[in-house]
Amino acid sequence: MTGQERSEEKSECVSLSPMMETVPALPESERVCVFGTGDLGRSLGLRLLQAGYGVVFGSRRPHSSSRLPHGAQVLGHAAAAQSAHLIFIAVQREHYDFLVPLANQLKGKVLVDLSNNLRKNQYPEANAEYLQSLVPGAEVVKGFNTLSAWSLQNGPSDANRQVYICGESAEAKQAVIAVATKLGFSALDRGFLSVARELEDFPLQLFPQWRLPLRIAIGLSAAFFFYLLIRDIIYAYVTQGKDISFRIMVSLANKVCPIVSLIMLSLCYLPGVLASFLQLYRGTKYRRFPDWLDRWMLCRKQLGLLALGFAFLHVLYTLIIPIRYYVRFKATDRTVSVIRENRTTEFDTTTAWRGDSYLSLGILGFGLYVLLGITSLPSVSNALSWREFSFVQSKLGHLTLLLCTAHTYLYGWNRFLSASTYKWYTPPGYMLCLVLPSVVLLLKLLLITPCVDRTITRIRQGWERGADHRNPKDSQPLIP
Ligand code: NAP
Repeated sequence: MTGQERSEEKSECVSLSPMMETVPALPESERVCVFGTGDLGRSLGLRLLQAGYGVVFGSRRPHSSSRLPHGAQVLGHAAAAQSAHLIFIAVQREHYDFLVPLANQLKGKVLVDLSNNLRKNQYPEANAEYLQSLVPGAEVVKGFNTLSAWSLQNGPSDANRQVYICGESAEAKQAVIAVATKLGFSALDRGFLSVARELEDFPLQLFPQWRLPLRIAIGLSAAFFFYLLIRDIIYAYVTQGKDISFRIMVSLANKVCPIVSLIMLSLCYLPGVLASFLQLYRGTKYRRFPDWLDRWMLCRKQLGLLALGFAFLHVLYTLIIPIRYYVRFKATDRTVSVIRENRTTEFDTTTAWRGDSYLSLGILGFGLYVLLGITSLPSVSNALSWREFSFVQSKLGHLTLLLCTAHTYLYGWNRFLSASTYKWYTPPGYMLCLVLPSVVLLLKLLLITPCVDRTITRIRQGWERGADHRNPKDSQPLIP
């Protein structure tokens, strides 16, 4: 660097803290440069300062930069680049061409590409790869882009602690991981720079694993809502001229919620059962499941949590039944007419048993439902051993399905056999929703019979049916 360049650079330097002049210069490894003084640059600079790093901002207008964290320095890009080995690029990708004339100063430096896009496939190549092509002499690392300026300002206790990085140079990645760790994040190395596009797509995701379960929940709710609307409300209006449309708000909702909940709970357990039968049929676990089954299995947690949400709504709707005007009116009316007509009614022990069993099974089912929901949370499931997790999610899960199904059968009780139940020759919603859980429970029952269970356990331990011919030792019959 010439003397003139040095003096120009000196005149570019702006310290935002008078203290900086007196603080002894930090070693290069303790200094970090941030290009860009926008939202992310400022938040990141603040966190770096709080973690003990010396921060030098590189800006187009070092003299007019404002609202920068106290203690940071701001320089022109060229001078800032020379002050640190690690440079965070907190600038939109569209402006990256300002880095081309700085290629010499950036040679050998680690450039951390923080950029995101507005939509997927916005550019032909990943932003980080584009940056690498502009500055081939530098080591580009993609990272930190899944954090927001807000979360950086609030600290890791308030936000996601995970950051993802990728890049070609192991040393460069190590330097970035060291900074991330010092900032309180845990960095996950995702591999080479070719993964950058995937990392850039992360912030653009919109509940990818929730889409299918949400569609199922909305589709089922809408289908059963219209089905029950026709059977309960429109039927009463057409056949008896009665307007009971007020029932839409609570009665109908309280029928739709448990129906959807039970079907979705069965949908959580059906793919596991299907997978077991597929393995039994194929006689091996080493063949991939069809894609649709894979996708279905991957969204079981979301299906279960949505099912729990509907069960929770059912509980709330049930709890408010006694305070409904319609219910209070009916109860008072019945009492008054019993008194007026001087009638006495017999206590029916069978009805009492049925009612109590129905409620008790519902309460037990809901209790286990909540337990399943809690143990599916990562913070809880991480604390469980694999055996504990599978005991809760599989054994207790099927027990929950059994209790909730029995709760619904008790709700139907002897109405299954009454012709008046089948308005316009259609079965009530609760009967329809019993089909799937009953099928799942029957199939599960088949799977846990000792002979089938033995075969499926062997298959899961690596035994293959075709291998019998190759290895005579394994040729004993599976089902004695
Ligand atoms: P921003 O507020 O718009 O700031 C960008 C900064 O880039 C500006 O303050 C400016 O700093 C500099 N700049 C603007 N035009 C330039 C040009 N032509 N040449 C050189 N530098 C220029 O953006 P941001 O929200 O901080 O985001 C910065 C990058 O981080 C983006 O790529 C974004 O995708 C990514 N990101 C942002 C967030 C977030 O929460 N904001 C989260 C993750 C990733 P100077 O005036 O000092 O030069």
